[in-house]
Amino acid sequence: MTIAKTLVLRFWKKWKGKTLNEQIEQLVTLMDDLYVDAHCHVTTSLERRNVTPKIPEAAIERCFMSNNTFDWHQIKLMKSSNNMDLSSIGFGVHPWYSHLYYTGEAPATTQSHYLQVLQGGTADELEQIIAQLPPPINLSEYIANEFDPVRVCCVGEIGLDKLFRLPKNGFYQGDQHAPLGRVRVRMEHQVQIFKALCALAVRHSLPVSIHCVKCPSLMYDLCKEHLLPHAAVKICLHSFTGSLETLESFWLAKFPHERLFVSVSRYINFKNTEPGIQLLQKLPLKCVLTETDFTWDTTESDQLLQELEFLVRQIARAHELDSFEVAKGAIYQNFQRFKGH
Ligand SMILES: [Zn+2]
Repeated sequence: MTIAKTLVLRFWKKWKGKTLNEQIEQLVTLMDDLYVDAHCHVTTSLERRNVTPKIPEAAIERCFMSNNTFDWHQIKLMKSSNNMDLSSIGFGVHPWYSHLYYTGEAPATTQSHYLQVLQGGTADELEQIIAQLPPPINLSEYIANEFDPVRVCCVGEIGLDKLFRLPKNGFYQGDQHAPLGRVRVRMEHQVQIFKALCALAVRHSLPVSIHCVKCPSLMYDLCKEHLLPHAAVKICLHSFTGSLETLESFWLAKFPHERLFVSVSRYINFKNTEPGIQLLQKLPLKCVLTETDFTWDTTESDQLLQELEFLVRQIARAHELDSFEVAKGAIYQNFQRFKGH
Protein backbone atom coordinates (compact mmCIF):
# COMPACT_ATOMS: atom_id res chain seq x y z
CA MET A 1 0.00 0.00 0.00
CA THR A 2 1.30 3.49 -0.75
CA ILE A 3 2.10 5.89 2.08
CA ALA A 4 -0.75 8.15 0.99
CA LYS A 5 -3.31 5.34 1.14
CA THR A 6 -2.09 4.25 4.55
CA LEU A 7 -2.41 7.78 5.83
CA VAL A 8 -5.84 8.28 4.36
CA LEU A 9 -7.10 5.13 6.05
CA ARG A 10 -5.46 5.98 9.34
CA PHE A 11 -6.83 9.50 9.49
CA TRP A 12 -10.26 8.78 8.13
CA LYS A 13 -11.87 9.00 11.56
CA LYS A 14 -10.11 12.26 12.42
CA TRP A 15 -11.35 13.81 9.22
CA LYS A 16 -15.03 13.44 9.89
CA GLY A 17 -16.58 16.88 10.08
CA LYS A 18 -13.60 18.69 8.56
CA THR A 19 -13.73 20.57 5.26
CA LEU A 20 -11.94 19.13 2.25
CA ASN A 21 -9.31 21.86 2.46
CA GLU A 22 -8.62 21.09 6.10
CA GLN A 23 -8.32 17.41 5.27
CA ILE A 24 -5.86 18.04 2.44
CA GLU A 25 -3.82 20.38 4.62
CA GLN A 26 -3.61 17.77 7.35
CA LEU A 27 -2.54 15.08 4.89
CA VAL A 28 0.12 17.25 3.24
CA THR A 29 1.56 18.23 6.64
CA LEU A 30 1.71 14.59 7.63
CA MET A 31 3.30 13.48 4.39
CA ASP A 32 5.87 16.24 4.70
CA ASP A 33 6.76 15.54 8.26
CA LEU A 34 6.39 11.88 8.97
CA TYR A 35 9.48 10.80 10.88
CA VAL A 36 9.96 7.47 12.64
CA ASP A 37 10.76 6.96 16.29
CA ALA A 38 11.04 3.18 16.35
CA HIS A 39 11.92 2.96 20.02
CA CYS A 40 10.78 5.38 22.69
CA HIS A 41 9.30 5.39 26.17
CA VAL A 42 7.18 7.02 28.82
CA THR A 43 8.54 7.63 32.31
CA THR A 44 8.60 4.79 34.81
CA SER A 45 7.08 6.45 37.84
CA LEU A 46 5.36 5.19 40.98
CA GLU A 47 3.81 8.59 41.67
CA ARG A 48 2.27 9.18 38.26
CA ARG A 49 0.91 5.66 38.08
CA ASN A 50 -2.70 6.64 37.51
CA VAL A 51 -2.16 9.81 35.52
CA THR A 52 -2.32 9.49 31.75
CA PRO A 53 1.00 10.74 30.37
CA LYS A 54 0.74 13.83 28.17
CA ILE A 55 2.69 13.24 25.01
CA PRO A 56 3.40 15.94 22.44
CA GLU A 57 1.47 16.17 19.17
CA ALA A 58 4.08 15.43 16.54
CA ALA A 59 3.97 13.97 13.05
CA ILE A 60 6.19 11.09 14.04
CA GLU A 61 5.25 7.44 13.79
CA ARG A 62 6.47 5.89 16.99
CA CYS A 63 6.53 2.73 18.97
CA PHE A 64 6.36 3.08 22.75
CA MET A 65 8.26 0.32 24.45
CA SER A 66 7.20 -0.94 27.84
CA ASN A 67 9.86 -1.94 30.34
CA ASN A 68 7.87 -2.94 33.41
CA THR A 69 4.38 -2.99 34.92
CA PHE A 70 4.50 0.73 35.78
CA ASP A 71 5.12 2.16 32.32
CA TRP A 72 2.90 -0.55 30.80
CA HIS A 73 0.04 0.70 32.92
CA GLN A 74 0.64 4.25 31.67
CA ILE A 75 0.86 3.15 28.07
CA LYS A 76 -2.50 1.41 28.46
CA LEU A 77 -3.99 4.66 29.79
CA MET A 78 -2.53 6.52 26.82
CA LYS A 79 -3.86 3.96 24.36
CA SER A 80 -7.37 4.84 25.40
CA SER A 81 -6.79 8.59 24.97
CA ASN A 82 -7.07 10.36 21.59
CA ASN A 83 -3.53 11.23 20.80
CA MET A 84 -2.45 7.79 19.65
CA ASP A 85 -3.12 7.61 15.91
CA LEU A 86 0.55 7.44 15.09
CA SER A 87 1.51 5.27 18.04
CA SER A 88 2.20 1.57 18.31
CA ILE A 89 3.06 -0.15 21.53
CA GLY A 90 5.55 -2.77 22.63
CA PHE A 91 5.18 -5.19 25.52
CA GLY A 92 8.33 -6.21 27.35
CA VAL A 93 10.48 -6.46 30.44
CA HIS A 94 13.70 -4.49 30.24
CA PRO A 95 16.76 -6.14 31.82
CA TRP A 96 16.94 -3.26 34.34
CA TYR A 97 13.61 -4.51 35.74
CA SER A 98 14.09 -8.25 35.23
CA HIS A 99 14.64 -8.87 38.97
CA LEU A 100 11.03 -7.78 39.60
CA TYR A 101 9.80 -10.94 37.81
CA TYR A 102 10.18 -14.69 38.20
CA THR A 103 9.69 -17.63 35.89
CA GLY A 104 8.80 -21.19 36.92
CA GLU A 105 7.98 -22.13 40.49
CA ALA A 106 6.85 -19.39 42.86
CA PRO A 107 9.65 -18.47 45.28
CA ALA A 108 9.06 -19.26 48.96
CA THR A 109 9.39 -15.61 50.00
CA THR A 110 10.05 -12.22 48.44
CA GLN A 111 13.45 -12.22 50.09
CA SER A 112 14.42 -15.65 48.80
CA HIS A 113 13.57 -14.57 45.25
CA TYR A 114 15.76 -11.48 45.40
CA LEU A 115 18.61 -13.30 47.14
CA GLN A 116 18.53 -15.76 44.28
CA VAL A 117 18.50 -13.28 41.39
CA LEU A 118 20.68 -10.48 42.76
CA GLN A 119 24.40 -10.52 43.34
CA GLY A 120 27.23 -8.18 44.36
CA GLY A 121 27.49 -5.50 47.03
CA THR A 122 27.77 -6.08 50.75
CA ALA A 123 25.18 -8.07 52.73
CA ASP A 124 23.96 -4.75 54.17
CA GLU A 125 23.60 -3.14 50.79
CA LEU A 126 21.69 -6.14 49.47
CA GLU A 127 19.40 -6.19 52.48
CA GLN A 128 18.61 -2.49 52.15
CA ILE A 129 17.70 -2.89 48.50
CA ILE A 130 15.56 -5.97 49.08
CA ALA A 131 13.64 -4.18 51.84
CA GLN A 132 12.43 -1.66 49.25
CA LEU A 133 11.48 -4.10 46.51
CA PRO A 134 7.92 -5.28 45.87
CA PRO A 135 6.91 -8.97 45.86
CA PRO A 136 8.10 -10.42 42.55
CA ILE A 137 5.65 -10.88 39.69
CA ASN A 138 4.95 -14.18 37.98
CA LEU A 139 5.97 -13.45 34.38
CA SER A 140 3.59 -16.01 32.86
CA GLU A 141 0.68 -14.50 34.77
CA TYR A 142 1.73 -10.99 33.79
CA ILE A 143 1.73 -12.05 30.14
CA ALA A 144 -1.58 -13.92 30.48
CA ASN A 145 -3.29 -10.95 32.14
CA GLU A 146 -1.79 -8.04 30.25
CA PHE A 147 -0.51 -9.05 26.85
CA ASP A 148 -2.93 -8.51 24.00
CA PRO A 149 -1.68 -9.40 20.51
CA VAL A 150 -4.28 -7.13 18.92
CA ARG A 151 -2.95 -4.02 20.66
CA VAL A 152 0.74 -4.83 20.77
CA CYS A 153 2.90 -4.43 17.67
CA CYS A 154 6.18 -5.74 19.06
CA VAL A 155 7.82 -7.40 22.03
CA GLY A 156 10.06 -4.82 23.63
CA GLU A 157 12.01 -3.63 25.29
CA ILE A 158 13.79 -6.84 26.17
CA GLY A 159 17.44 -7.76 26.43
CA LEU A 160 20.57 -8.27 28.48
CA ASP A 161 22.80 -5.76 30.27
CA LYS A 162 26.11 -6.76 31.77
CA LEU A 163 27.07 -3.31 33.02
CA PHE A 164 23.88 -2.34 34.78
CA ARG A 165 23.86 -1.90 38.57
CA LEU A 166 20.72 -1.36 40.63
CA PRO A 167 20.02 2.08 42.04
CA LYS A 168 19.78 2.13 45.82
CA ASN A 169 15.99 2.45 45.70
CA GLY A 170 15.75 -0.96 44.02
CA PHE A 171 14.88 -0.15 40.42
CA TYR A 172 15.28 2.73 38.03
CA GLN A 173 12.52 5.36 38.21
CA GLY A 174 12.62 8.31 35.86
CA ASP A 175 11.45 10.81 38.46
CA GLN A 176 13.13 9.39 41.59
CA HIS A 177 16.85 9.41 41.12
CA ALA A 178 18.91 7.28 43.48
CA PRO A 179 22.66 6.63 43.36
CA LEU A 180 23.81 3.35 41.86
CA GLY A 181 25.08 0.69 44.23
CA ARG A 182 27.05 -2.45 43.46
CA VAL A 183 24.16 -4.89 43.35
CA ARG A 184 23.47 -6.49 39.96
CA VAL A 185 20.92 -8.83 38.44
CA ARG A 186 22.50 -12.21 37.71
CA MET A 187 22.98 -12.82 34.00
CA GLU A 188 21.29 -16.25 34.26
CA HIS A 189 18.14 -14.54 35.51
CA GLN A 190 18.22 -11.90 32.78
CA VAL A 191 18.55 -14.74 30.27
CA GLN A 192 15.50 -16.56 31.71
CA ILE A 193 13.33 -13.47 31.38
CA PHE A 194 14.68 -12.70 27.92
CA LYS A 195 13.99 -16.25 26.70
CA ALA A 196 10.42 -16.18 28.01
CA LEU A 197 9.75 -12.97 26.07
CA CYS A 198 11.39 -14.33 22.92
CA ALA A 199 8.99 -17.27 23.21
CA LEU A 200 6.10 -14.79 23.41
CA ALA A 201 7.31 -13.08 20.20
CA VAL A 202 7.58 -16.45 18.46
CA ARG A 203 4.11 -17.51 19.62
CA HIS A 204 2.55 -14.42 18.09
CA SER A 205 4.98 -13.85 15.18
CA LEU A 206 5.84 -10.40 16.55
CA PRO A 207 9.04 -8.40 16.01
CA VAL A 208 11.32 -7.73 18.98
CA SER A 209 13.23 -4.62 20.08
CA ILE A 210 16.45 -5.60 21.83
CA HIS A 211 18.72 -3.89 24.33
CA CYS A 212 22.20 -5.40 24.62
CA VAL A 213 25.08 -3.99 26.63
CA LYS A 214 28.46 -5.70 26.78
CA CYS A 215 27.39 -9.28 26.08
CA PRO A 216 27.39 -9.46 22.26
CA SER A 217 28.11 -13.15 21.78
CA LEU A 218 25.63 -14.33 24.41
CA MET A 219 22.93 -12.17 22.82
CA TYR A 220 23.78 -13.38 19.35
CA ASP A 221 23.72 -17.04 20.44
CA LEU A 222 20.33 -16.64 22.15
CA CYS A 223 18.79 -14.92 19.14
CA LYS A 224 20.26 -17.50 16.80
CA GLU A 225 18.78 -20.32 18.84
CA HIS A 226 15.42 -18.85 19.81
CA LEU A 227 14.50 -16.36 17.08
CA LEU A 228 16.39 -17.08 13.87
CA PRO A 229 14.51 -20.36 13.14
CA HIS A 230 11.20 -18.47 13.15
CA ALA A 231 10.93 -16.74 9.81
CA ALA A 232 8.08 -14.45 10.89
CA VAL A 233 10.03 -12.86 13.77
CA LYS A 234 11.95 -9.70 12.93
CA ILE A 235 14.70 -8.34 15.13
CA CYS A 236 15.61 -4.77 15.91
CA LEU A 237 18.88 -4.12 17.74
CA HIS A 238 18.13 -0.81 19.37
CA SER A 239 20.94 1.75 19.78
CA PHE A 240 23.43 -0.96 18.80
CA THR A 241 26.71 -0.51 20.70
CA GLY A 242 28.53 -3.70 19.69
CA SER A 243 31.54 -3.67 17.40
CA LEU A 244 31.24 -3.36 13.63
CA GLU A 245 32.95 -6.76 13.38
CA THR A 246 30.18 -8.38 15.45
CA LEU A 247 27.59 -6.67 13.32
CA GLU A 248 29.18 -7.78 10.09
CA SER A 249 30.37 -11.31 10.80
CA PHE A 250 27.49 -12.38 13.03
CA TRP A 251 24.27 -10.46 12.60
CA LEU A 252 24.54 -9.38 8.97
CA ALA A 253 26.18 -12.64 7.91
CA LYS A 254 23.62 -14.95 9.51
CA PHE A 255 20.29 -13.13 9.73
CA PRO A 256 18.28 -12.43 6.56
CA HIS A 257 18.48 -8.67 6.02
CA GLU A 258 14.70 -8.51 5.55
CA ARG A 259 14.34 -9.55 9.19
CA LEU A 260 17.16 -7.51 10.73
CA PHE A 261 16.95 -3.88 11.81
CA VAL A 262 19.24 -1.57 13.73
CA SER A 263 17.59 1.54 15.10
CA VAL A 264 20.09 4.32 15.61
CA SER A 265 19.79 7.09 18.18
CA ARG A 266 21.61 10.38 18.34
CA TYR A 267 22.46 10.23 22.01
CA ILE A 268 24.07 6.78 21.90
CA ASN A 269 25.20 6.15 18.33
CA PHE A 270 26.16 9.74 17.49
CA LYS A 271 27.98 10.83 20.63
CA ASN A 272 30.74 11.14 18.07
CA THR A 273 29.80 11.56 14.43
CA GLU A 274 32.36 9.30 12.76
CA PRO A 275 31.52 6.02 14.55
CA GLY A 276 27.85 6.77 13.90
CA ILE A 277 28.46 7.23 10.18
CA GLN A 278 30.59 4.07 10.06
CA LEU A 279 27.80 2.09 11.71
CA LEU A 280 25.29 3.39 9.14
CA GLN A 281 27.65 2.57 6.27
CA LYS A 282 28.00 -1.00 7.46
CA LEU A 283 24.21 -1.44 7.38
CA PRO A 284 22.17 -2.03 4.24
CA LEU A 285 19.71 0.87 3.99
CA LYS A 286 16.79 -1.56 4.33
CA CYS A 287 18.00 -2.48 7.84
CA VAL A 288 18.11 1.07 9.26
CA LEU A 289 15.56 2.61 11.63
CA THR A 290 15.65 5.82 13.63
CA GLU A 291 14.82 6.28 17.31
CA THR A 292 15.10 8.76 20.15
CA ASP A 293 14.87 6.29 23.10
CA PHE A 294 13.48 9.33 24.97
CA THR A 295 10.56 9.47 27.37
CA TRP A 296 7.98 11.34 25.30
CA ASP A 297 6.08 12.59 28.34
CA THR A 298 9.11 14.65 29.43
CA THR A 299 10.30 15.85 26.01
CA GLU A 300 9.12 18.69 23.77
CA SER A 301 8.03 17.82 20.24
CA ASP A 302 10.69 20.17 18.82
CA GLN A 303 13.42 18.18 20.45
CA LEU A 304 12.03 14.86 19.27
CA LEU A 305 11.88 16.22 15.74
CA GLN A 306 15.41 17.60 15.95
CA GLU A 307 16.79 14.23 17.02
CA LEU A 308 15.08 12.40 14.17
CA GLU A 309 15.89 15.05 11.60
CA PHE A 310 19.56 14.84 12.60
CA LEU A 311 19.51 11.05 12.13
CA VAL A 312 17.80 11.21 8.73
CA ARG A 313 20.45 13.72 7.61
CA GLN A 314 23.22 11.34 8.71
CA ILE A 315 21.57 8.43 6.90
CA ALA A 316 21.29 10.46 3.68
CA ARG A 317 24.96 11.36 4.03
CA ALA A 318 26.26 7.89 4.98
CA HIS A 319 24.38 6.24 2.10
CA GLU A 320 24.97 9.09 -0.37
CA LEU A 321 21.27 9.35 -1.11
CA ASP A 322 19.88 11.93 -3.53
CA SER A 323 18.02 13.84 -0.85
CA PHE A 324 16.89 14.07 2.73
CA GLU A 325 13.38 13.08 1.62
CA VAL A 326 14.65 9.87 0.04
CA ALA A 327 16.26 8.87 3.35
CA LYS A 328 13.15 9.78 5.29
CA GLY A 329 10.95 7.76 2.94
CA ALA A 330 13.25 4.74 3.20
CA ILE A 331 13.13 4.79 7.01
CA TYR A 332 9.36 5.08 6.94
CA GLN A 333 9.09 2.05 4.66
CA ASN A 334 11.52 0.11 6.85
CA PHE A 335 9.40 0.83 9.89
CA GLN A 336 6.27 -0.43 8.13
CA ARG A 337 8.12 -3.65 7.29
CA PHE A 338 9.37 -3.96 10.86
CA LYS A 339 5.83 -3.73 12.18
CA GLY A 340 4.76 -6.29 9.61
CA HIS A 341 2.82 -4.13 7.14
ZN1 LIG B 1 14.86 1.90 25.41
